[in-house]
Amino acid sequence: MNEHKDGFVPQTLLEKLAKEGHEEAKQTLIKMEEIKEKKREMTSTAENMITPEQNSRKANREVYDSQNTSQQKYKLVRKEEYPPVSDENVNFAYDYGGKTRDYYLSKLNRNSIDDKGMDLIFNVHFSERMNNAYWDGSQMQFGDGDGELFTNFTKGSDVIAHELSHGVTQYLNGLEYFGQSGALNEHFSDAIGSAVKQFIKGQTAETADWLIGNEIVGPKFPGKALRSMKEPGTANSFDDQPSNMKDYKDLPNDNGGVHTNSGIPNKAFFLVSMGIGTDQATLIWYAAWRNKTLIKKTATFQEAFEAIFKTAQDLSNEGKVTKNAAEVVKNAFREVGIGSLVTV
Ligand SMILES: [Zn+2]
Repeated sequence: MNEHKDGFVPQTLLEKLAKEGHEEAKQTLIKMEEIKEKKREMTSTAENMITPEQNSRKANREVYDSQNTSQQKYKLVRKEEYPPVSDENVNFAYDYGGKTRDYYLSKLNRNSIDDKGMDLIFNVHFSERMNNAYWDGSQMQFGDGDGELFTNFTKGSDVIAHELSHGVTQYLNGLEYFGQSGALNEHFSDAIGSAVKQFIKGQTAETADWLIGNEIVGPKFPGKALRSMKEPGTANSFDDQPSNMKDYKDLPNDNGGVHTNSGIPNKAFFLVSMGIGTDQATLIWYAAWRNKTLIKKTATFQEAFEAIFKTAQDLSNEGKVTKNAAEVVKNAFREVGIGSLVTV
């Protein structure tokens, strides 16, 4: 199983913040390491939690309060069709999780994470002042943040859609979380995260900010967001995301720079969305991601481009996306330095 072991906030960014003297970033690194260690000990627990026999049922939401422990499913505080509670973190997880589920179903015809109506498990107030959120292979965990670098991670609909989409990728093509395939894994989560945020806010590609994590950064965070899909490399003072293949960074950390190089396909997705609309772009990307023969676990950027291009042609022939979609895809990837040799 391809689990997403890193968090919404890349380890490398936390390390840089810790180096600048932010003690809470250091504490989060220690907590993340402890959680990873615990996870390693509980081998295959994640697999056991997933019940593949769930058929075409509707995905129910369950929100648990970890009460600042590292326990999952600690105290059930809200489930499907239960009214809002006084804790806004619980309601954010419930509402944004529901919107993400609805986006997948209404726009992409996907029934939850596994396409079989798998229930959505949210653990909020996870750990203490944890500056992160993550998908662990079967559930989502959200920290409260320290209130300085980061605030509550449930506040960002893009954070929730991002983490949930790591689950979707796990079931779709299981992109390996390293190098270019890892950056594509990260990229897909950002793309859907942005699309869901636009869906909730009633925005279009033109009116959206295309920022990732701008609603969860705190007053002491050195920037406006974690990433920018529109202008990779400009979201904060540590943002080193490239927006062109010529600047691809083969990094020794962050699983080969998965959160850095995702800037390249992110920019391509932004450009395609500007050309044909975010929902059509998402439909093409999702259909490409679904096709395991087109995008394998170890896919490169070039292979992803070819898959997205071919899918755009197919969907266009079927009348599901606009006629010029493949052309727009080709031009967008060309602009980020990918696929220039393809003549089809
Ligand atoms: Zn991620």
